Amino acid sequence: MKRKIMLLIGACIFTVIALATIQGYFIYNIYKLNEKEINTAIKKQIARLEDTDECENLNDTWILQSKKYVKEYVKGNATKQDYTKYIISNRDSLSRAMNAYMKRKAQPEDYPISYSVYINSVAIVNHGKPETLFNGKILVLANDTLKKNQILSSMGRSETQNTEDELTIVIKSNRYYNFEKLQQTIISKMAGLLIFSVLLMAFVVFLYYMSLKNLITQKRIADIKTDFVNNITHEFQTPLATMDLAIKTLQRKDAQMSPEHYKNTLAMIARQNERLQKLFRQVTEASLTPIAGKDIIQVTSEEIKDMIADFELSRPDITIEFTSQKEAFTIAMDRFHFNTILINLLDNAVKYGALKILVDLKLTTGNFILSVTDDGKGIPVQEQVSIFDKFYRVEKGNIHNNKGLGLGLFYIKQLVQTYKGTISVKSEEQKGSLFTITIPV
Ligand code: ADP
Repeated sequence: MKRKIMLLIGACIFTVIALATIQGYFIYNIYKLNEKEINTAIKKQIARLEDTDECENLNDTWILQSKKYVKEYVKGNATKQDYTKYIISNRDSLSRAMNAYMKRKAQPEDYPISYSVYINSVAIVNHGKPETLFNGKILVLANDTLKKNQILSSMGRSETQNTEDELTIVIKSNRYYNFEKLQQTIISKMAGLLIFSVLLMAFVVFLYYMSLKNLITQKRIADIKTDFVNNITHEFQTPLATMDLAIKTLQRKDAQMSPEHYKNTLAMIARQNERLQKLFRQVTEASLTPIAGKDIIQVTSEEIKDMIADFELSRPDITIEFTSQKEAFTIAMDRFHFNTILINLLDNAVKYGALKILVDLKLTTGNFILSVTDDGKGIPVQEQVSIFDKFYRVEKGNIHNNKGLGLGLFYIKQLVQTYKGTISVKSEEQKGSLFTITIPV
């Protein structure tokens, strides 16, 4: 069963991971789709901006001027460096003009993009002789400060052939754009979807967690109930078998039975009957919620000493020490309930190996405290939280070193709680246990 539960937990983890991966994959695809959509819209926006006379004039300024330079260069009146100097010196004014133009043409649905134009090469063919005037990447204009991750929007090629001078000029340029808030825009567009997916995942994990927790609890309860049935069968077996034997002895009319033997057999039946009734009482008491008595009782040292003396009578090998802060305590509690608690705790101490027990009564701020310390076999730390549960026994399955139904401490706890008190345990294996009961006065 443990293996099955582990497998189930593994399967749940695997499904959650698989679901998260699939969800992540879909979200990534939606992100990419949105990115594509925005880029297409931006390209349309750029096409609209570029498709005007005003924009063409702006571009013509540097193209015509470049051609003039080429002609001067061919004549020997300008150098290649002069050309780059010219482009750099005109960059600011062209950029300003482009910026102003884009602002004027902006429409509400437009994305706030940065736009730039670069010259890549200026090549000539002079009287059949090819020559490169410029090769590289030089910024002509930009409407904004330059940003990283520029995206190519279009490539331009301007070719002029002059048959008179036998001069061909080819200017190649690239146009770029950048939308800095692209990621932010997509994420805010997808915010609803993202939040919904995270919530959905959290809900699935929560559902899995609750189901598994429930399953483990159910399994624990089922185990405890099986143990209880085993225990009760075991507990009833001995008295029933003994009684059966005793009754058969009495029924053997022919047997010569001494009065002593007769008395002993009857006493045996009475003892076993008492034991069966005790077991029965335990089961019925534990299934009923105790009702708090309204009495105000005086718990005196005298009566506790008497109770202990009675208890010691049937267990002569056990030493019980008793200490009390006062001669008498006044507490609001049913006397029978108080006695049941003390006797049950003493019973347990003896049952679980104690040879020496210490009972102590005291009063601290507003609380009456009864503690029972023993030098028995103790309780493992991991079991200490469960021993007050119904039917819970440390010895599980078919191990029955000590008889019991796992109801004693459960019943004590119920009684203590009826009086708004608490019960706690401190114990170390092979050293002993300390049970402390606190009842508000
Ligand atoms: P039962 O004694 O019938 O099993 P209880 O509810 O009285 O049921 O006790 C629950 C479990 O707590 C016991 O099975 C036992 O292992 C452990 N226990 C209780 N009292 C003591 C004690 N004084 N010393 C060691 N173990 C104890």
